[in-house]
Amino acid sequence: MKCPFCDSNDTKVVDSRSAQKNNAIRRRRECLDCGHRFTTYEYVVEYPLTIIKNDGRREEYDRRKLFNSLKIACNKRPVPVDKLESVVIDIEKEIEELSGGEIASNVIGELVIKYLKELDEVAYIRFASVYKKFKDLDEFKDQIERMSNLNGSKN
Ligand SMILES: [Zn+2]
Repeated sequence: MKCPFCDSNDTKVVDSRSAQKNNAIRRRRECLDCGHRFTTYEYVVEYPLTIIKNDGRREEYDRRKLFNSLKIACNKRPVPVDKLESVVIDIEKEIEELSGGEIASNVIGELVIKYLKELDEVAYIRFASVYKKFKDLDEFKDQIERMSNLNGSKN
């Protein structure tokens, strides 16, 4: 990302948050050469995608569901939110290459496992161990939430 003040390519992200309404990711960046700060918005291209669930039901792809599953897997792990956002974008890119508008939910699960493995060992094991049992992101989410509630009540 080029600095709009001095054209330097040396910029870093200092803050990142999603602007949910516009489906955009807002980033504050700082130029490492001139020190100016500026804001960028990254828009994710929307395309229709149907998920085929394990029981054969179909539902519309929901980016938030994918993001939340990653977030839950990385709960209390030192993984910044913007990392999770870029994993979502990477996974969507792979889905786009793999699918003709429809994709089995377990393919997405396998992609999540692949990326978590690179991202964080604990999150990877957490996700993989539960996911292998259920093979479904929804059930994964429910199960993990139940587990963390149990842990919470012990403390
Ligand atoms: Zn600059």
